[in-house]
Amino acid sequence: ALTRASRISSIGVSEILVIGETARRMRRAGKPVIVLGAGEPDFDTPDNVKEAAVRAIRDGRTKYTALDGTPEMKAAIIGKFRRENALDFEPAEIMATAGAKQVLFNAFMATMNPGDEALLAAPYWTTYADIAAIAGGTPVALAGREENGFRITAEDLEAAITPRTRWLLLNSPSNPSGAAYEAEHLKPILDVLLRHPHVWLMTDDIYEHLLYDGRTFATALNLQPGLRDRTLVINGVSKAYAMTGWRLGYCAGPASLIEAMSIVQSQATTNPSSISQAAAIEALTGPQDIVAQRRDDFQRRRDIVVERLNAMPGISCRKPEGAFYTFANCSGLLGRRTPEGAVLDSDSTYCRYLLEEANVAVVPGSCFGLAPYFRISYAAAQETLMEACDRISRANEALR
Ligand code: PLP
Repeated sequence: ALTRASRISSIGVSEILVIGETARRMRRAGKPVIVLGAGEPDFDTPDNVKEAAVRAIRDGRTKYTALDGTPEMKAAIIGKFRRENALDFEPAEIMATAGAKQVLFNAFMATMNPGDEALLAAPYWTTYADIAAIAGGTPVALAGREENGFRITAEDLEAAITPRTRWLLLNSPSNPSGAAYEAEHLKPILDVLLRHPHVWLMTDDIYEHLLYDGRTFATALNLQPGLRDRTLVINGVSKAYAMTGWRLGYCAGPASLIEAMSIVQSQATTNPSSISQAAAIEALTGPQDIVAQRRDDFQRRRDIVVERLNAMPGISCRKPEGAFYTFANCSGLLGRRTPEGAVLDSDSTYCRYLLEEANVAVVPGSCFGLAPYFRISYAAAQETLMEACDRISRANEALR
């Protein structure tokens, strides 16, 4: 029998994957399941980006590259930070990776010792906790309460910092809540960090371009340049350019940190795919109008889903500022019974009920460290979203 390494013993199969697998099984059995569980844009990668990749293949740019990214890739990333975030970085402060997920992996592996704590603002992307644990550290959830717009406050942070705190991770706009930290929310948090020089900051800015109602993105290092020597800025092309399958992420941080992360990457994946780098260069330096167009599409879908959810008795949904998720409160339905007589005692049972009764797959908030909520990914066609809301509504009405 296989003995698993202790470093993965605390990491179960994610409930999100179980829901996805169940949905696929139901589909194979002929059930018309609508899956609103996935964290990826339903759009296709733009044509100019695809063409750049084809050119790279034809030109023979198909070999190992510098492990932290080709000089052209780094130049494109530096240009992006200058243009969009008014931040200036040197090539030694930049690294390209196989997805933003690998930035997290490199960073935690390079810096966490047993007992070191990573503070996560809940609800959070589960990967943060799992990678911190794989790296031997201790993830510590800090609840971003609904009444605070699912954001943590400076007071929450101050109370949570211990001598073992190594990192604070912020993700704005957030997966799963869609909440964004604007300057007024972010600045007091950054000021707390300034007083605790042993705590480093990771900002996961991957949903930067999906901000609605005319909001502009608040860049942490602009608000508090004093944190520059201990901040890792994480980004990638997956969400902004519909490039999830290309596996290309990037980061900027102090050269000493990037160097340590390069050691990890060199023994994990070497360099990100040369072809994906060529595609990402085009994404970051080519025409950008598609980014705003798609953002506007997402905003329309958000409005539909939020309005529909709030019309359902027992459910309330805060209007998220960004990303492509709603995070609705279902506490008003807990305690009710399904037509079969089962009691809805948690967001997990409610989501299971929705999958079986309504054939709609959504993810319980407990998967992200905050209950009772459920996350809908609205990266789907408007008709699909309306149909899903109709079904959820009917399933709710069938409760006793
Ligand atoms: N960060 C957040 C908050 C995400 O939701 C995701 C993907 O779901 C990622 C990072 C990962 O992106 P990538 O495809 O670049 O690994």
